[in-house]
Amino acid sequence: MRAISILPALAIITAACGPAIRPLGPVAPVRAPEIELPEPPSESPPPAAPLALDDEEYLTARALMVPVDGVTPDRVPDTFWQARDGGARAHQAVDILAKRGTPVLAADSGTVLRLARNALGGITIYATDPERRFVFYYAHLDGYAAGLHEGQAVAQGEVIGYVGTTGNAPKNTPHLHFQVMRYVDARTWWNGPPLDPRPFLTQPGTRDSVVRAAAAVPRQR
Ligand SMILES: [Zn+2]
Repeated sequence: MRAISILPALAIITAACGPAIRPLGPVAPVRAPEIELPEPPSESPPPAAPLALDDEEYLTARALMVPVDGVTPDRVPDTFWQARDGGARAHQAVDILAKRGTPVLAADSGTVLRLARNALGGITIYATDPERRFVFYYAHLDGYAAGLHEGQAVAQGEVIGYVGTTGNAPKNTPHLHFQVMRYVDARTWWNGPPLDPRPFLTQPGTRDSVVRAAAAVPRQR
C-alpha cells in the first residue's frame, strides 16, 4: 500500500521539477515506454498519405533529368495546370521549348514501354523507371533515336528521340510535351494519374554519350 502512495508523489515531483529531480528517479525510464507505445498504433491507420509520400520520396531519389539536351531545371516552365480545350481540362504536363531536332533524353533509366503515334501527341514514347512506379510520356517528337524499340532498356540521359511539332503542337513552336504519371497497373499504365514533374527534375539535360565521353577522357595533368 505504501508503494502506491509514493509513486504518484514521485510523478508529481518529476513533472513539476523535471531537471532537478530526475537523478533521483529510476522509476521514470520504466514508465516512459508504457505511455509511448500505445500511441503510434492508434495514429497509424490512415495509409494513403504515407503511400503517396513513398512515391514522392522515390521520385526525388531518382533525381530525374530534364529530358531535353542542354535545358536546365529552371527553364522548365510551370505549365502543369494550364487550361486546355477551352478550360475543359488541365494540361497536366510540362512543355519544354527547344529547337527542332534537339535530342530528347530519358528522364530516368528504365524501359521503353511503347512507341505510339496519336492525333494529339504525334510521335510519342512511353517509358518507365526501374521499379515501374511511374510512366514518362514524351510527345510531339520529330522522330525516334535510331533503333529505339519497345522493351529496350534505356539509361538516364540516353537519346531516345528529337524535339519536333508532330500531333497538335504549333508548327512554329517546337517543344517536348513531357508528362509523368503513376503506374497503376498493367492494363491501364498509359493512363495513370499525372503529377507535376518540376519538383523532381533536378538534373540538367545532359546527353548520356556526353557524360560517358567526358568520363572516359584521361586526365592529362
Ligand atoms: Zn503540352
